[in-house]
Amino acid sequence: MAKSLMIVDDSATMRKIIMRTVRMSGLEFDRTEEAGNGNEALEKLGGGPVDIMLCDINMPEMSGTELVKEVRKLDSCADMRIIMVSTESSQELIDGVVADGANGYITKPFTPEKFQEKLTPFMN
Ligand SMILES: [Mg+2]
Repeated sequence: MAKSLMIVDDSATMRKIIMRTVRMSGLEFDRTEEAGNGNEALEKLGGGPVDIMLCDINMPEMSGTELVKEVRKLDSCADMRIIMVSTESSQELIDGVVADGANGYITKPFTPEKFQEKLTPFMN
């Protein structure tokens, strides 16, 4: 089934690396979008949800942790899967963002195998 993906990260280079790693993982998306911070992501999601969002934590204007809370207030995005992708790896932070509605967590540096493992359950 056709799936859509949004990559949210304040580094354009990191967005490219994530996109390339997703491709290397063998996962296929028919539509991909990018956003540079939480505000930009919310703006784009106003035009319609995506199936999976890969979300950085540390970003200017609106962080990933704030973005998760905002997305979970939107009925239109209730089924959206949010996987955090961050260098932050404290269990407290991970537990907090999962409690706020994130569906998974990938720490940087990552591998195609890690993306495959974390995203495949949400590809059916
Ligand atoms: Mg960042």
